[in-house]
Amino acid sequence: MLRLKKSERKINIAADLRISGEIRFDEPMAEHTTFKVGGPADVFAIPSDENDIRELLKFAKSKSIPCFVLGGGANILVADAGIRGVVIDMSRFNSITAAPLENGATVLSVGAGLPVSRAAAWAADHKLGGLEFIYSMPGSVAGAVWMNARCYNADISGILSHVDLISRTGNPSRYHPKPDDFAYKRSPFQDADSIMTGVGFSLRSADPRSLWMEMKDHESDRTAKGHFAAPCAGSVFKNNRVFGQPSGAIIDSLGLRGFSIGGAKVSDLHANIIINADNASAADVRAVSDHLAREVKNRLGFELEREILLVGEWEAL
Ligand SMILES: Cc1cc2nc3c(=O)[nH]c(=O)nc-3n(C[C@H](O)[C@H](O)[C@H](O)COP(=O)(O)OP(=O)(O)OC[C@H]3O[C@@H](n4cnc5c(N)ncnc54)[C@H](O)[C@@H]3O)c2cc1C
Repeated sequence: MLRLKKSERKINIAADLRISGEIRFDEPMAEHTTFKVGGPADVFAIPSDENDIRELLKFAKSKSIPCFVLGGGANILVADAGIRGVVIDMSRFNSITAAPLENGATVLSVGAGLPVSRAAAWAADHKLGGLEFIYSMPGSVAGAVWMNARCYNADISGILSHVDLISRTGNPSRYHPKPDDFAYKRSPFQDADSIMTGVGFSLRSADPRSLWMEMKDHESDRTAKGHFAAPCAGSVFKNNRVFGQPSGAIIDSLGLRGFSIGGAKVSDLHANIIINADNASAADVRAVSDHLAREVKNRLGFELEREILLVGEWEAL
């Protein structure tokens, strides 16, 4: 991989890359992740439209540098050394439109970078039900689809109508879900390497008052579980049915609640959540998660599977 020197980077990029959105250099990723950790991204681009995305992909290809697509940063642990190459921040893809279908359902089409919680709120205000289960979960719509986000016994794939994509070579396409494409925390986009620009959900008519009641219940439940008490990325490990109990209960059974390294700590409220308790580094968070996985393996024989994604230049540590 080509690694540009800082000084030449800005000159080259300013000359070679023209987009209608925004370009920043050495952007601290800690400002774009819910863990509030992570070093600088070489090039941090905020495209305004699909042409911008094509330009960014073309630029990265011409310089042989990688591109990482950022949603809400709610499921990633970015290395302290940061991210080499281009980060594409999808936050300006935040449109919302609704189209009724003849069968009485409505397709809600939203920009990929829209916070999924805002999509749920908009739907409820417009008497549309289906997204209420995911209200108050951090992250973007596309991030939720990428991981097939799951909460309160529902997966986001259950209401998916379509996904608009741009391939790494710049070609647009529309994906329609097929049976078996999705599984627990699995989506076809994890292997596809394409960029989601928009997502459609199949929703039904519903009473806004009962939708909001359910949504507020979920939000209170998350608050009680400490989801918003300190910077974190939700569950660190996936749940595996073979273990017979949730990963949090397994970690708890080993007395690891409250375990800490540096500024990172296992939450006192939920053993499957690591929090940035006191100016943690990404290395601290990783060290705590590695310790939990090692302890569970050594003492119980289970291999925990990490749900949060390691992003950036980890090998530099
Ligand atoms: C307090 C808290 C509670 C949480 N609770 C839950 C929960 O109940 N259930 C659950 O499933 N998760 C939960 N999470 C984890 C997180 O909210 C979800 O995984 C969320 O879907 C991540 O979305 P994101 O936009 O932040 O994705 P990011 O973290 O930004 O990215 C995740 C992955 O998606 C890819 N991606 C993002 N956008 C695009 C795009 N436009 N095109 C292609 N790829 C893309 C990224 O490249 C990356 O590989 C929680 C997190 C927090 C902080």
